Amino acid sequence: MERNGKSRVAVIPCPAYEPEMVRRAVRDGLTCLGGMERFISSGEQVLLKPNLLKKARPEQAVTTHPAVFLAVAGLAKEAGCGSLLYGDSPGTQSFEDVARESGILEAAREAGAVPGNFHEGVLFSWPEGKAAKEFTLSRAAVEADCIINICKMKTHALERVTGAVKNLYGCVQGRHKSAGHVHFPGAVPFAAMLCDLHRALKPRLHIMDGIVAMEGNGPGSGTPVQMGVLLFSDDPVALDTVFCRLINLNPALVPTNFCGNQYGIGRMEENQIELVTVQEKDGADSAHENGSVVPISMEEAVARWGKADFDVDRDPRSERASWKLLRQVMRPFQPRPWIRPELCVRCGVCVDSCPVEGKALDFRRGRSAPPVYDYKKCIRCYCCQEMCPKKAIEVKRPWAAC
Ligand code: SF4
Ligand code: SF4
Repeated sequence: MERNGKSRVAVIPCPAYEPEMVRRAVRDGLTCLGGMERFISSGEQVLLKPNLLKKARPEQAVTTHPAVFLAVAGLAKEAGCGSLLYGDSPGTQSFEDVARESGILEAAREAGAVPGNFHEGVLFSWPEGKAAKEFTLSRAAVEADCIINICKMKTHALERVTGAVKNLYGCVQGRHKSAGHVHFPGAVPFAAMLCDLHRALKPRLHIMDGIVAMEGNGPGSGTPVQMGVLLFSDDPVALDTVFCRLINLNPALVPTNFCGNQYGIGRMEENQIELVTVQEKDGADSAHENGSVVPISMEEAVARWGKADFDVDRDPRSERASWKLLRQVMRPFQPRPWIRPELCVRCGVCVDSCPVEGKALDFRRGRSAPPVYDYKKCIRCYCCQEMCPKKAIEVKRPWAAC
């Protein structure tokens, strides 16, 4: 939403996943942006895209919380959408299993949303692409009139954080997600591809579940941390920039931010972001009924809802080294995935997740020992770390892991 040439981001406090509290906070966030009706026309097919990375219970903060999903779905219905679909492409597990464990399946049933077709891939040509000129997308994403991106506030081993820009990657169909990591190895090329994906799919609205976020070893094995906020914007880069500021991370260190800014999918400069919230009634908690939309400075937002010691990678080295030669020279110093043998149950999910032909990790010592990495083959996509169900894989610089 542009006001005076700026992208508007709404920051709405919400201390818990109590359904009525979340519903009011989501309504407030949408009010700040002009209401859900601004994003949905009557009769349109709407696709809700939560984060359904892998099987995890809501309190683990891996997936979008069902209370947030339910509130957004309810407002989409109220706005008069024709049909309401939802979906994602989880890593190695079935969509149904992930949706059930996360609570989204139940929430969707309650809201009258049905699973979209994420099983079928459609080749989507995008000649305007700067980094990617075609994608194999889920049919549901291609056919939806309107995509609403409901992302989760989390850290990410490759991109430092996963927010609104990164979450859309689940619209790439199933196994083609793995291929994307091979075609776009490295944080910057991968971020550039994600920005083309946004330009192609044009999601209309981005909502971030940051009530309980994930810090540390994200996006699948980190630690839940109370942040108590929901973020709303039609600009994914501005939204992710605010997220970065709340966790004391320089937004310019995040490839999805600076690529998104360059590719024109959103704005990273803070003088181009208009931050708003809803004024609470005297003595009220998060129940903002009849509250009014008020501007707020970034400094005040950080003071009220930020967490300066949020555990995220703030090291400025290496990721911006997009030249191939420099990347090769830097390789021995780059972070790499490591397995903690005491946590590994030899399930093989990490091996299945590895997109490299011939596998960059495998059970080279048999199934009685954890898999072994071949770091010469490893492209540092961290799919293995994302998908490990036992939090047994960490990403560290070589000297830190010894
Ligand atoms: S590291 Fe994780 S995913 Fe890989 S075999 Fe061990 S427990 Fe399974
Ligand atoms: S070993 Fe892990 S980080 Fe390396 S390429 Fe395979 S999945 Fe990616």
